[in-house]
Amino acid sequence: MNYCVRMTDSVLPRRAFVVNGWLAKFDAIGRTAGGINRVAYSEADLAGRAFTLDLFRDAGLAPRIDAAGNIVGRLEGTEPSLPPILIGSHVDSVTDGGNYDGPVGSFGAIEVARSLREQGVRLRHPLEVVVWQNEEGGTIGSKLAIGELTDAGLDAVARSGKTLREGIGLVGGSVEKLAGAVRTRGSVHAYVELHIEQGGTLERSKLRIGTVTGIVGLRWLDVIIDGFANHAGTTPMDQRQDALLAAARFTVAVNDTVRAEAGGQVATVGRLVASPNTRNVIPGRIELTVDLRDLDAAKLDRLEARLRQLAAEIGRASGTTFRVNQATVSAPAMADTQMMEWIDQSATALGLPSQRMPSGAGHDAQEIAHIAPMAMIFVPSVAGISHSPREFTKAEDVVNGVDVLLNAVVRADQG
Ligand SMILES: [Zn+2]
Repeated sequence: MNYCVRMTDSVLPRRAFVVNGWLAKFDAIGRTAGGINRVAYSEADLAGRAFTLDLFRDAGLAPRIDAAGNIVGRLEGTEPSLPPILIGSHVDSVTDGGNYDGPVGSFGAIEVARSLREQGVRLRHPLEVVVWQNEEGGTIGSKLAIGELTDAGLDAVARSGKTLREGIGLVGGSVEKLAGAVRTRGSVHAYVELHIEQGGTLERSKLRIGTVTGIVGLRWLDVIIDGFANHAGTTPMDQRQDALLAAARFTVAVNDTVRAEAGGQVATVGRLVASPNTRNVIPGRIELTVDLRDLDAAKLDRLEARLRQLAAEIGRASGTTFRVNQATVSAPAMADTQMMEWIDQSATALGLPSQRMPSGAGHDAQEIAHIAPMAMIFVPSVAGISHSPREFTKAEDVVNGVDVLLNAVVRADQG
């Protein structure tokens, strides 16, 4: 372990300069009055990918674009028969987003490979740096890399207005050859992704590094509540079937249920549409959404069942009927136990206080977890703000994250 600590010490000052310098230059690409706009397949996304490809080339990584449109660079190891260690993230953004969600992990991974190469350190395993395409549109590049998207799914329209099919071609991939980009179970030794936290936990706890325990699973429910629309002036209070009142009770019940037990589970009623949505008519129909997340799939099952039960009870008590449909289900993706230890050990060796924590946001790592041991390293987001032009991570925290990534890669190579 002395080996990697020594190596880290020797490149620290230069790396600090390099990654933050790249981030500062990258900030000019897709910057508009509203924030960073590098949505997948837009002109700015293509410019961002060209910038990133140059970084790969300057790092001596001879990048290629795989058939899915992901950028891949490779450092050979001393034992060519071993499967590669994968590190990386994404460089596309949401609409009016920031410059740190994605680029920190992408550029950090390039820098890890660059500094290993520059120092002549050869790992046993090959090291592949991957920048996944279109993360913000639903982890598309990493889904394609595990063979998760069907041909029909490629007709979905991305935020840029292009279909995924068109987008894959635009970024240099090839829809006809997608099978060639698929990585199978056992073909990857380990996947590590450095990312900004996008929440305020690390900053509040004055910690520098988060070791991600897993990426939460998610249930999206569509709820339709039918009551009876009637005159707001002539219908007595005890003779109403008010769908909005039932929705209000249900919204409170969702919050109470999720808060009634210990744990990190969260639930949100985020959208509500009332009909007829008129001042002098009792609401006859409500459509609302529930977003429920936790790391524990069994807990998600239990909470969803409880919410369904409460919906039925509130319906009976209010003369309304609830229909609850699952719109989306995604399973939790757990980080690998051994890899979490390597990240903890790396943070400790570098003198960086850390803690284990779940990721409430989705990442490419959740897809790669299907085929390989996965782990993630979080660095603090100032004020917990993300997907916003105010998204910011301090330069020293970027450096810390890259340091931990480098050390974790070296430990994964030895492990
Ligand atoms: Zn991201």
